[in-house]
Amino acid sequence: MKWINKGHEFDSIYERICEKEKYLLFGAGDLGIKSYHILKEEINIVGFIDNDEKKRCSLEYDKPVISLAEVKWDEKLGIIITPGQMQRRSIYKELLSKGYHKNIDFFDLEEFLGIYFVYKYNKVYFYNISFLPSTVCNLKCEACLNFNALAKHYYTREWNNLIKDVDMFFSCVDNILLFHVSGGEPLLYPRIADLIDYIDKKYGNRIYQLRTVTNGTVIPSDHILEKLSKCNVDITVDDYREAVPQYNDNFDVLIQKLEKYGISYHTSKVDSWIDLAPLTTDYSNWTDVQLREHFDNCCHSWQELRDGKLFSCNYDSYATVAGINEEQDVEVFDLKTYTTEQSKALIEFRLGYNEKGYTNLCKHCRGFLTDDNISVPPARQVIGTVLNKL
Ligand code: SF4
Repeated sequence: MKWINKGHEFDSIYERICEKEKYLLFGAGDLGIKSYHILKEEINIVGFIDNDEKKRCSLEYDKPVISLAEVKWDEKLGIIITPGQMQRRSIYKELLSKGYHKNIDFFDLEEFLGIYFVYKYNKVYFYNISFLPSTVCNLKCEACLNFNALAKHYYTREWNNLIKDVDMFFSCVDNILLFHVSGGEPLLYPRIADLIDYIDKKYGNRIYQLRTVTNGTVIPSDHILEKLSKCNVDITVDDYREAVPQYNDNFDVLIQKLEKYGISYHTSKVDSWIDLAPLTTDYSNWTDVQLREHFDNCCHSWQELRDGKLFSCNYDSYATVAGINEEQDVEVFDLKTYTTEQSKALIEFRLGYNEKGYTNLCKHCRGFLTDDNISVPPARQVIGTVLNKL
């Protein structure tokens, strides 16, 4: 979105939020439960909606879990959509088709958290952030969203700069639901455990979930595992065994070691990846209006923290680091000059506002969850070298 009324873009949505007397959380999964714990002292949560019949029968929840058809509509009732970006779109469609209106009858968790806390308490509550110590990776995935397959060099950040960024971030942001240490392959970053330990020990009480990820092919040293076992961190272990079967033994050893050290982890296997296809997409002749529409419909949900700045779309900034995109000043929020008077503007930026209303890479990007995005098999490896530049 393009900023028109900076610092006041969400005034009317907050008014709607204040009009509600009770809420249902759409989604009784992991994020639904997290949202419940974060918001239960703040708003009147009367239950959950879930399309999964098994969750509706479960005794796990101390609030009822009902189907959408069972909801008795009432203008004082608000619905908060809690699942992640991949499922959110279908829920939007479902609610819109039943006559509910966005930001009137239903709200998105990501936006709700940011808007509610900044208007009510002048507190900056972020849904998530992506933070990369390095882009170094042992795999070379064709559709890598860090665009490693197109980069000439890997990029490893200086330790002091990493720490400076973490401190800078938490001098501006009060709370965050998910702080994600990403990569590259994070377990190849030599000081990964020191970094996680620093974030956890210093800011863990302001982070709901500290998470990192691995491609499941790297076995970290016992020293790293020992240190990680003392941190409140969860590791997503991506299961790419079908794409890179030569690493299957490493996957098994990694899981055994995580178990042995009692490190919280979950495995993740997906059917497909999204290819943003920056080399074959050209929307550079589109008007500003078309590009803004493309950005708004894209449903990307992440921003990157790097060098004291937030970048409007993490894929745009990854492409810059990979050397296939130019960084533009108007698409970043400079945390170095932040003051608390800018808290609403910071939340607006995090929720998709910037001066231009799109990013430079949008001209060469199919979009994350657009109707014509491209699905490819996960972790398919590059054969030979791809060095074409935009
Ligand atoms: S279209 Fe691409 S570059 Fe633009 S916001 Fe979406 S993912 Fe980012």
